Amino acid sequence: MKCPRCKTDLAPAIRHKIKVNACPSCKGMWLERLELEQLEDEVFDFGEHAKGTLVTDSTPTTDRCPECNASLSRFRYRFYDLEMELCENQHGFWLEADEDTRVLELMKREEADLERKLVAEDRWAATLKRLHSGSFVEKLRDLFR
Ligand SMILES: [Zn+2]
Ligand SMILES: [Zn+2]
Repeated sequence: MKCPRCKTDLAPAIRHKIKVNACPSCKGMWLERLELEQLEDEVFDFGEHAKGTLVTDSTPTTDRCPECNASLSRFRYRFYDLEMELCENQHGFWLEADEDTRVLELMKREEADLERKLVAEDRWAATLKRLHSGSFVEKLRDLFR
């Protein structure tokens, strides 16, 4: 796999516990779609319904997909002022050096905003789990025997 930017061979690397293919020369990195989702999950889980990247203002670049050689398109990531490049054939995303860190920072900020809401939801989920557990139902039955 070659770097879309400088054509150096990409090397496997670990970024934020996720395996990626990084460029030793320009420090950019190639993430397969799944890897970007894992990166998000490291700090914040939106749940399946909310997941997926909102692509707006997509513009073609001269960079090439390391997998299919199609030209990568630049787009804005979700609602933020963060740009990335992606392969229109769904092969993955190209992040410039430290753009992945910016993704994590943005995610962390959202996490802080929604933390209280999530804590409440966690408690509710735990309550439901207890209600549905066999032992709890059995205890209830015992009461009515
Ligand atoms: Zn490079
Ligand atoms: Zn591709």
